[in-house]
Amino acid sequence: MYARIIALGYGIFCALVADGAIAQATVQGVRVWDAPGASRVVFDLAAPVTFNVFTLSQPERVVIDIEQGQLRAELPKVTNTGVITGLRSGTSAEYGLRFVLDLAQSVAPKGFLLPPNDTYGHRLVVDLEYTPPPEVKSTAPAVVAPIEKSEPPAKSVKRDIVIAVDAGHGGEDPGAHGRKGTREKDVVLAIAKKLAQRINQETGMRAVLTRDGDYFLSLRRRSRIAREAKADLFVSVHADAFRNPRASGSSVWVLSQRGATDEAARWLADRENQADLVGGVSLDDKDDVLASVLLDLSLTGIIDASTRVAQHVLNNISAVGAVHKPAVQYAGFVVLKSPDVPSILVETAFISNKGEEARLRDQRFQQQIAEAIMTGITRYFKANPPPGTWWATLPLVVGER
Ligand SMILES: [Zn+2]
Repeated sequence: MYARIIALGYGIFCALVADGAIAQATVQGVRVWDAPGASRVVFDLAAPVTFNVFTLSQPERVVIDIEQGQLRAELPKVTNTGVITGLRSGTSAEYGLRFVLDLAQSVAPKGFLLPPNDTYGHRLVVDLEYTPPPEVKSTAPAVVAPIEKSEPPAKSVKRDIVIAVDAGHGGEDPGAHGRKGTREKDVVLAIAKKLAQRINQETGMRAVLTRDGDYFLSLRRRSRIAREAKADLFVSVHADAFRNPRASGSSVWVLSQRGATDEAARWLADRENQADLVGGVSLDDKDDVLASVLLDLSLTGIIDASTRVAQHVLNNISAVGAVHKPAVQYAGFVVLKSPDVPSILVETAFISNKGEEARLRDQRFQQQIAEAIMTGITRYFKANPPPGTWWATLPLVVGER
């Protein structure tokens, strides 16, 4: 009798859970974001779901099953700019709701749930990473000109100073937003593009934008782009928000030594990153203790260099408007944790402040901020030109570091 009551109770409990799942496994929206080398599909949900993601080949597809799922949204049109060539939905005998993504090539899919933030509710995110096919090269053998003894030595080419300009947030991550609906991801992209344009106008300097459109980039991916471009400096552009709507002004941030040290440990743990070069020393053939020491030495120098760039930028930004924090600030921002590239993060203004929200939308203010950051960068590199660059051939500016 006792056992039967338990069994009955259990049955009712299961029925309730199942009912809840049916009611909640509703897909309320589907969005697709394309970035270079990655596409992201986002399913807006009423509540967290049980799901399964797997691939099929010939032709290449990714299948996403949502347990007891119900589709209450239109599927977006696929624009064919990324790896996804088609998006369909149907039913799966085992799961209920099934989505099929048709693909231009094979991908490594990764599915995960995200909790609500101040823009979106519960979401299922499926990231598709892929290596874009290399550009088609001529198969004709390269013609190598015979070297003549009388030929003068090749003119030594001075390399450009490379600056990675990182517009914060993007795509699924809108960043902070103002009360009039201004989104951080949009204004910082506008400022980043203006800064990149200024850098490219300068002799012996070249900008690399980590993103040039509205798509999501992981923080690690941003610093990876900077490292792969062999950047001499990484500048991340943001626009703060604060609970106090009267907070205003800019601030410039550098990675704290504490954050850096924690990150050093993480780097060492991460097999993938162990082969990376830190100041020209490959870590993968060193033992962990030695590697840790090398990384720490490199970080101390990098933080020192970052602080000096940050100070120059802060000096010039204060001329544009109010400065929120009069000194260079330190914190453990993940985006700044690149042990071999000096990195700064500029909070240009408070998007949560009514007056500053309006300024952030203003093209002239965007240009002024870009100019101020640019002046700070050039002051720094005039005093600290990287070896081998055209800037290193110029007379040094005495008295500045
Ligand atoms: Zn931000």
